[in-house]
Amino acid sequence: MSETQPQNYGRVALIGLGLIASSIFWAMKRAGMESHVTGYARSAETRETAKRLGLCHEIVDSAEEAVKDADLVILAVPVGAMGPIAEAIAPHLKPGCTVSDVGSVKQEVIDAVRPHLPEGVNFVPTHPMAGTEHSGPDAGFASLYDNRWCLIVPDGAPEEATAKLEAFWQALGARTEQMEVEHHDLVCAVVSHVPHLIAYTMVGVADDLRRVSDQEVIKFSAAGFRDFTRIAASDPTMWRDVFMNNKQATLEILGRFTEELFALQRAIRTGDGQLLFDYFTRTREIRRGILQAGQDTDAPDFGRVKVEK
Ligand code: NAP
Repeated sequence: MSETQPQNYGRVALIGLGLIASSIFWAMKRAGMESHVTGYARSAETRETAKRLGLCHEIVDSAEEAVKDADLVILAVPVGAMGPIAEAIAPHLKPGCTVSDVGSVKQEVIDAVRPHLPEGVNFVPTHPMAGTEHSGPDAGFASLYDNRWCLIVPDGAPEEATAKLEAFWQALGARTEQMEVEHHDLVCAVVSHVPHLIAYTMVGVADDLRRVSDQEVIKFSAAGFRDFTRIAASDPTMWRDVFMNNKQATLEILGRFTEELFALQRAIRTGDGQLLFDYFTRTREIRRGILQAGQDTDAPDFGRVKVEK
């Protein structure tokens, strides 16, 4: 891929070297991008691991150093860390560069980052809707973004800078769509944040009942509970920050969820089988829609590969 292609930035800085940033680097490499990539992570341990893995062309010891001369800076740290990092790097940003973030929440990140950025720097927030329950520099892989959505939340950013960043994400394999900030936070509360909270709660309840480690629960758990445990293994810092920073939308969706749960609880108590049947028929259609949109596989057991012992 040549330097003249629109999605190619000369120098890229990745701040934070976990699942999301390392996958960006591997996907850039796979796409044949010629950008020079500099990486920084908070701990010496992560920086050492990154060097060992060959992650980035250069690993440096401060965020300020990483962003020097960068044409694109991607903040890939937990949502609560975005503001302080933006403040630290601001005086070192190259005029005209693009700063982006990959945070799972947008309004709070925009409020925390934008005030620090100097005039002439483009801020184009994004959110790649892809991830796994694994974190850290060795969790990343080149195909993470393939066919997944990367939401772009320009929120007033110049069109040219936005289009270039969209092209960049498309080159990494993602599909892109622009979204308003508030809508983004509400949509993500529905499709990601509240489902995670429910999974955390369900596994917590089972643990309270001292059943999680019970051999029978593990042995007989069908995809339902096992999938909850997989989701509930997601990074605690990242998810704490998501809920602390997407309060309004999360509480709104949780309120609706609780009302629906009470309606189903009542149907069970009163023996209203028709209500349950109709409800489950509607939700089954939603699953079919997800499959038709190519966002999951209909292989039995979610396409899990069986490991023979
Ligand atoms: P991760 O694997 O846990 O990596 C986080 C990185 O941020 C690590 O390199 C960590 O450095 C660094 N970091 C943490 N706290 C920091 C601080 N206070 N100052 C400076 N650096 C700090 O996380 P991730 O999954 O890549 O997530 C990164 C961002 O992407 C988050 O904002 C998250 O909301 C968003 N996101 C995640 C997913 C997902 O499913 N994982 C999906 C979409 C978006 P050390 O290792 O040295 O601590």
